[in-house]
Amino acid sequence: MPEKFVDPYGRDVNYLRLSVTEQCNLSCFYCRSNPLECGKKGGKALLGVEEIKSIAEVAVGLGITRIRLTGGEPLIRFDIIDIVKALSAIPGLNDLSLTTNGILLEKMAFKLAAAGLGRVNISLDSLDEANFKNITNGGKLQSTLQGIENSLKAGLIPLKINMVLLKGINDHEIENFLTLTINKELDVRFIEYMPTQGPKKWSNYFLPLQSVVKIAEKIAPLENVPGEHGGGPAQYFRLKGARGKVGLISPLSRHFCHSCNRLRITPDGKIKPCLFSSDEIDLSDSLSSKEKIKEGFYEALKKKPDPQKTAVNPADRVRQYQSKRTMSQIGG
Ligand code: SAM
Repeated sequence: MPEKFVDPYGRDVNYLRLSVTEQCNLSCFYCRSNPLECGKKGGKALLGVEEIKSIAEVAVGLGITRIRLTGGEPLIRFDIIDIVKALSAIPGLNDLSLTTNGILLEKMAFKLAAAGLGRVNISLDSLDEANFKNITNGGKLQSTLQGIENSLKAGLIPLKINMVLLKGINDHEIENFLTLTINKELDVRFIEYMPTQGPKKWSNYFLPLQSVVKIAEKIAPLENVPGEHGGGPAQYFRLKGARGKVGLISPLSRHFCHSCNRLRITPDGKIKPCLFSSDEIDLSDSLSSKEKIKEGFYEALKKKPDPQKTAVNPADRVRQYQSKRTMSQIGG
């Protein structure tokens, strides 16, 4: 039985987000500091499959039970199937999932399921072809939609669609996203835009999620549903009679730091104790020693910030964003 991995504020840390690349096959305008970054080859050295496996084994030995692969776009790594196979074989890891823009799932969903992936979260910010293309800098909506269908067929469930709400960009599509949950067994989660590109851009696009509830109430009566398995950050409800749920993730207007259960690994081998903090623990020189990796995890655990100090007002919270990385560099 692994030990409990509890931070100084009593939070049980059992979830690891492991980013396997900074690069992406889309270039969403709000995610990267420079759209041209996306196609760039090379860059910082990435963790190899064996290194990722060592980190994951140590983490599971400490009490991590859930791992999510992310990026950049994790599916563009040529060895992603090997990574999934290596991690899914770790005893004690109960939940292996992956966050993707879905473009490559049309081809890869069945292979990923066969390699041991449990489920996927798919990021989708527009259901309108032209808007999708604008947001993603040239992406094809049809590819992601086909990826969703194939993931459902491959059994990568429960499948969650994540939509970042962006004022003036996709807020007119809230109703279309809500109605997706009616006939399909998938959850749609609305996420508040975070200040990863600085306060100015943030104030241009930020919308609190209360507007989603108002629109949902016009479609059907709302039923409350209990929180996620494993205690995720979303608050859920269901449109009466719908097959899927609607989730609201409000890191700014209703923060969930008091129940934060996660650590993050960047693609260049640093542990991030908190998305908002600039603290990073560098594992890159420790990867040949599981003992040193373990020490790194304990150091990260100690550096998880005090949730009492989280600002409650979104504008104040924005000023607390100290990380130097954009979301694509952290792994959202
Ligand atoms: N490429 C994968 C994908 O599209 O899901 C994984 C990486 S992407 C960085 C993960 C998620 O972060 C996406 O859902 C994206 O919309 C979200 N994201 C990026 N920047 C964000 C921001 N400033 N605020 C909120 N979510 C953001």
